[in-house]
Amino acid sequence: MYEALERSKAVLFDLDGTLIRGEQAIPGAVHFVVQLAKMGKRIIYLTNNATRTNHAVAELLNRLGFPAQPEMVLTSSIAAVSLLLRKIGFGKKVYAIGEEGLISPLLAAGFELVNGEVPADAVVVGLDRKATYADFEMAMKHIHRGAFFLATNRDRIIPVENGFAPGAGSLVALIEYATGLEPTIAGKPSAVFVKEALTQAEVHCQEAVLIGDNLETDILAAKNAGVHSVLVESGVPSEGNIFPDIKVNHLTELLH
Ligand SMILES: [Mg+2]
Repeated sequence: MYEALERSKAVLFDLDGTLIRGEQAIPGAVHFVVQLAKMGKRIIYLTNNATRTNHAVAELLNRLGFPAQPEMVLTSSIAAVSLLLRKIGFGKKVYAIGEEGLISPLLAAGFELVNGEVPADAVVVGLDRKATYADFEMAMKHIHRGAFFLATNRDRIIPVENGFAPGAGSLVALIEYATGLEPTIAGKPSAVFVKEALTQAEVHCQEAVLIGDNLETDILAAKNAGVHSVLVESGVPSEGNIFPDIKVNHLTELLH
């Protein structure tokens, strides 16, 4: 087994393009995670995908055969909620563009979701496959009035069953272009998000390995948090000047 993985106490996994593609497991991925869990390693799923709640993600993973409980799943919307609690505080007004995976943790944390002209303290943007022009217009208005601009993540594209689709970052870019203002990013590559995962796994950064398919999110996040990184080339194609500690074509190569 790859030495850094053998030494590790916790493994932080990206999901889309690393373990799953759409609603299918990537061949060999279930076996790989099960092997690590059998060795007693703590498994954390760290996903920028904010469309599903951690409960729904755990359910999907279980259905595919991965060992998963909701506490083992950290989504970028969970990161967005903790960031908002620190930044604007409990009970404040939020204008959100996002799906169930973003809306439900915002409500559970006590934020008031506003619609229409009620001034918002923050605008949060995640992937919303039903977002309309009017939603973006409203987000822009709130940001111009001084609302804090937060994005769940900046993934340009996401792997889906038959190829790729625009990611949350593509929607965020629309608002960024329209307002001329840059958002704060809650998910990967934020080191804070990886540190939340380390806390959840109760390990130090040197005791964990992060495995992902995206240089600009996964590998950069690992570097920002001082965690050993593995790039698996089964997902988003990318080139750049961010270098993982090791690169493999397939997860199972790490078992030999
Ligand atoms: Mg990915």
